[in-house]
Amino acid sequence: MIIGTPREIKNHEYRVGLTPESVVELVAHGHHVLVETGAGAGIDADDDTYVTAGAEVVETAAEVFARADMVVKVKEPQAAERAMLRPGQILYTYLHLAPDPEQTRDLVKSGAICIAYETVTDAHGGLPLLKPMSQVAGRMSVQAGATTLEKAHGGRGVLLGGVPGVAPAKVCVIGGGVVGFNAAQMAVGLGADVTILDRSPEVLERLGIHFEARAKTRFSNTANLAACVAEADLVIGAVLVAGAAAPKLVTRDMLSTMKRGAVIVDVAIDQGGCFETSHATTHADPTFVVDGIVHYCVANMPGAVARTSTYALNNVTLPHALRIADLGWDAALAADPHLAAGLNVQSGRVVHPAVASALGYEN
Ligand code: NAD
Repeated sequence: MIIGTPREIKNHEYRVGLTPESVVELVAHGHHVLVETGAGAGIDADDDTYVTAGAEVVETAAEVFARADMVVKVKEPQAAERAMLRPGQILYTYLHLAPDPEQTRDLVKSGAICIAYETVTDAHGGLPLLKPMSQVAGRMSVQAGATTLEKAHGGRGVLLGGVPGVAPAKVCVIGGGVVGFNAAQMAVGLGADVTILDRSPEVLERLGIHFEARAKTRFSNTANLAACVAEADLVIGAVLVAGAAAPKLVTRDMLSTMKRGAVIVDVAIDQGGCFETSHATTHADPTFVVDGIVHYCVANMPGAVARTSTYALNNVTLPHALRIADLGWDAALAADPHLAAGLNVQSGRVVHPAVASALGYEN
């Protein structure tokens, strides 16, 4: 099969669909890989590195789209890319179609086979191709919070781990799933005083066993949440209710109980955020202040660490890419219901039930 990776063109996107190491694997399976010139610049992989890996470097995205049987990307195709898709061509990337009728319409019109990373499932009910980005964002949230707590960034001038003789900062993590667990790991590692709230007894038990005395766990109800937020130097919002907008757990009134210069990192902002006062920000201008509380609400946190994120993403996307390339998309999906759950649009039809119902398509 001919597999193609264009340079990502979405604003401030530095990741790339295939690393040179992934190219080596695909070539070893007998496939031909096209990479647009400069596609790996954001992860420090130049054209020569891709050529050494066995890829053919081509000058334009148009050539990649024209020749590839399967296009492997990171972000959803932009309008110019969608116009280059053709019937029967496989598109394998993040799509996030439910809130995006325009993209969905174009993908339907293209006649392509569109497999979305974010809806591929695993045997435990998880979303394995989304998980690495939550791991990255969870770990980054503590880094971002620590920096924002510095005076020069508007924070209250607190070092997360304290020093001998001075108490560490208090960190309140709301939601103990993938983001929350990874955030807590980093905060604990830095020596902060960490409390994690969740409403799932199973999650609380898992966290308790893992962290033992190094972090406290609390059931997430209004009283516990209010107490945790009021005493925190850093609050990390990491809740997710699958398929729904994030619940606004921290109200504007609760901000008045917090310490001036305390920091909120709302990782759940891509689902609308779990703080009433949050709105999405960018890496170029990541924070704003409401009632003396500094808010960090970057919606695409992993993009800032493009190298780590690209490799983490390829670790989970490549095995499926190999199977699709080796078997053909229909046989690969027939053999694996979890990969089949990734199929969103097929030859002019929206076939993913949740996407179809969100956008009013019959499937
Ligand atoms: P997850 O499903 O692994 O974890 C979510 C947790 O929230 C679960 O343990 C659930 O029990 C808990 N929860 C639900 N309601 C709660 C409540 N009322 N109080 C406390 N806990 C509650 O999800 P995740 O992978 O950790 O993702 C969390 C959020 O981070 C999602 O919205 C995800 O899209 C987002 N995210 C954002 C970025 C970014 O760049 N901003 C990157 C990756 C993920």
